[in-house]
Amino acid sequence: MKSPNEPTLVVPRPQVPHRDLLQLQVLPDEAQLRADIERLRREKNAVILAHNYQRPEVQQMADFVGDSLGLSRQAAKTDAEVIVFAGVHFMAETAAILNPEKTVLLPDLRAGCSLADTLTAQGIRDWKAGNPGGLVVTYVNTTADVKAESDYCVTSGNAVQVVQSLPQGMPVLFAPDRYLAAHVIRETGRQMDVWDGACHVHEAIRPEDVQGQQAAYPDAELLIHPECGCSSKILGTIPELQLYSTEGMIGRAKTSPAQAFIVVTETGMVTRLEKDVPGKTFIPVSRTACCEYMKMITLENIRDSLVNLQPRVTVPEEIRVRALKPIERMLAIG
Ligand code: SF4
Repeated sequence: MKSPNEPTLVVPRPQVPHRDLLQLQVLPDEAQLRADIERLRREKNAVILAHNYQRPEVQQMADFVGDSLGLSRQAAKTDAEVIVFAGVHFMAETAAILNPEKTVLLPDLRAGCSLADTLTAQGIRDWKAGNPGGLVVTYVNTTADVKAESDYCVTSGNAVQVVQSLPQGMPVLFAPDRYLAAHVIRETGRQMDVWDGACHVHEAIRPEDVQGQQAAYPDAELLIHPECGCSSKILGTIPELQLYSTEGMIGRAKTSPAQAFIVVTETGMVTRLEKDVPGKTFIPVSRTACCEYMKMITLENIRDSLVNLQPRVTVPEEIRVRALKPIERMLAIG
């Protein structure tokens, strides 16, 4: 029983939820997001293609996960009317070049590529002007207008094969990745002009990062991508070391007797390896080997892109037709 002198406490009732007063963001319900994406992709006849460097939850939702070459192949053969590209801009452009009649979505248009940004179409035209009759081989990590100036497109998985197939005696420009170029020159013996470009993520991986993980995991085998800045120095100390494209890493991890691997590329590759090679252990070379462009794609913006069928990636027809030729050569060779 309350005494007469005891004050009455008045508790104000909030007019809006506390989380709004505090301006807290409610985390999206992941199960609901997944259900929405499932429903939308059926309704819109859409396929989700995800690169090996995507976030784990995005890789899990994808119809296909792979490298640039594998994704290009999937884009070329899909019956879906809509392609949601969980990757970066040049990859969505490649899908649009292969499928001008389809709707190609990139859920966040800011997802670019530091390597693709190092090369312009004018840069290639300038090289051609000084090397009449020369052949231009560009890594698939380039913009559509750069591809339109190229003779061949390559990925890390088929660059050696493509360069081996080139006629002898002609000047060759290999662009834009100088580390992949060094790998191709080592493997083929072909002398080429090399564009001075690099991916900021792979270039930042240092030999000390690799050596630190080797000291911590002495039984682990190295899986090194040829785009890595550390590859030349490591090869200097282990000349017999093989370099692997991301798809090559999966093949090697399956067949190698090793049970643990140090994965020397972007960290997303660990997710793909753990899924495709269960029972073995994969250790990222460095937690900071993380591409912020790749990680811009999320379940939320995939859902939103399917709702709105935006943002779309298109390529002007005049550029598309010229860019198609080197891409088709890449698909035919490797
Ligand atoms: S990891 Fe490097 S090459 Fe790949 S998308 Fe990111 S910036 Fe481009």
